Amino acid sequence: MPYEPIIGLEVHAELLTQSKMFCSCAVVDSTTAEPNRYVCPVCTGQPGALPVVNKRAIEFAIRVGLALNCEIQRVNVFARKNYFYPDLPKGYQISQYELPLATNGWILIDTKEGSKKIRVRRVHLEEDTGKLFHVDNYSLVDFNRSGIPLLEIVSEPDLHSVEDVKAYATKLRTILRYLGVNNGDMEKGVIRFESNVSVREVGTEKFNTRTEIKNLNSFRALVKGSEYEIERQIKVWSSGGVVEQETLGWNENTNKTYSQRSKESAHDYRYFPEPDIPPLELEQKWVDDIRSSLTELPDSKRERFLAFGLTPYDASVLVAEREVADYFDEAVKAGKEKKVEAKAIANWIISQLFSLLNESNQAIPDSKVTPTLLVELIALVNDGTINSNTGKSVLNEMFATGESGGDIVKKKGLGQVSDEGAIKVAIEKVIADNPDQVALYLGGKDTVSKWFFGQVMRGMGGKSNPSVVQKVLDEKLEELKK
Ligand code: ADP
Ligand code: MG
Ligand code: ZN
Repeated sequence: MPYEPIIGLEVHAELLTQSKMFCSCAVVDSTTAEPNRYVCPVCTGQPGALPVVNKRAIEFAIRVGLALNCEIQRVNVFARKNYFYPDLPKGYQISQYELPLATNGWILIDTKEGSKKIRVRRVHLEEDTGKLFHVDNYSLVDFNRSGIPLLEIVSEPDLHSVEDVKAYATKLRTILRYLGVNNGDMEKGVIRFESNVSVREVGTEKFNTRTEIKNLNSFRALVKGSEYEIERQIKVWSSGGVVEQETLGWNENTNKTYSQRSKESAHDYRYFPEPDIPPLELEQKWVDDIRSSLTELPDSKRERFLAFGLTPYDASVLVAEREVADYFDEAVKAGKEKKVEAKAIANWIISQLFSLLNESNQAIPDSKVTPTLLVELIALVNDGTINSNTGKSVLNEMFATGESGGDIVKKKGLGQVSDEGAIKVAIEKVIADNPDQVALYLGGKDTVSKWFFGQVMRGMGGKSNPSVVQKVLDEKLEELKK
């Protein structure tokens, strides 16, 4: 019997607010900031220090809850999750347990089999821990990260392949970036994944025991770790063994999971309501205001772009980053005036501008080629002022200098030659200079006409209008045959 994977993801995302979750310490990049500079009695757990909830963090969390189609719970209760670890100075983490901020949501993911709905069980707020560094035979701890607002987003076990897992994680990251609550920088650990994996025989209903893989800090680790665990469990079940519930770590070097501990359960943490923070009651009006000011999300942008006549591929590429989608939207607006179609704009962005951005490692908002400049360039190609090859080299120059396409064309005399007289002269020269090729052509080798075309284009510095060249050349060759 074949097996199928059942996977649920827990995603931890830091909320990039100005200050921490329960104190006024700054939220800083914990991979570069000087250790233990951004700390105070609250986030280092000194006795008697009192936490105060960061309103902005709640707002960010509500944004996420709404964007994930969740119900926002009006009454929020913070709880203490008790456990000991050297990066947790209080001996407990302030989290949410019985009453999380948001529940029962869903998002759509794009897969080869089409769009799938993945349910989101809950979204709750907590605080990040400090960071440990292991050096030789001792350890160091940095509390800069301690108390940074952290959102935990838990899916239902609706994922059935590592492709689903990757698509879900990617979509979630995109949404968080669109919302401006997290920059998605996995190398810095601002988003971290845990994959809960079980397998069952196809056709059976019951879920089997799952294992949970921690510290998956890149898409690669997420995919490789989940894949490894699926295969391992299939081997265990099919050889008559039993999969034990446990928490696993992922070793990047060996590409294997390893057992960290047999799985803890909720009662091990002895959760109880946080006595220092009263239950939080959210005003409906505030939630409504946040909802109405929510940015347009990728799915809706994608629909809009499809209606502009883009292919599904183009639309997905353009919505993957909010900045790119905004750039495209602006270009389409500018294109209305210049009669430049959205599809042409999409092509120029995806095939030309993206490679220039990649080569120079630039983000689209920093590009010297503004949406308006790009549209003006496309208009020059459309109206025949330059041909599309010249257009590409003009774009390279625009990208480097920020000059307009029109100025570059004028300055360098790149205007396309459509004048039939000039083109005829060039064709006659090529024919006169190449009697052997003419003989071949007249002897029946039709492909030589392509060679003539290339020679004429080159002879005119690539600036001649290709369709005029083709037309005049065809006429000339017909004459020769007579
Ligand atoms: P806990 O809160 O103890 O970590 P939950 O039952 O709330 O555990 O689930 C945590 C995650 O594990 C969720 O993403 C859920 O979808 C997933 N999950 C639960 N049961 C299974 C299972 N049998 N196989 C795979 N994933 C599962
Ligand atoms: Mg868990
Ligand atoms: Zn602090």
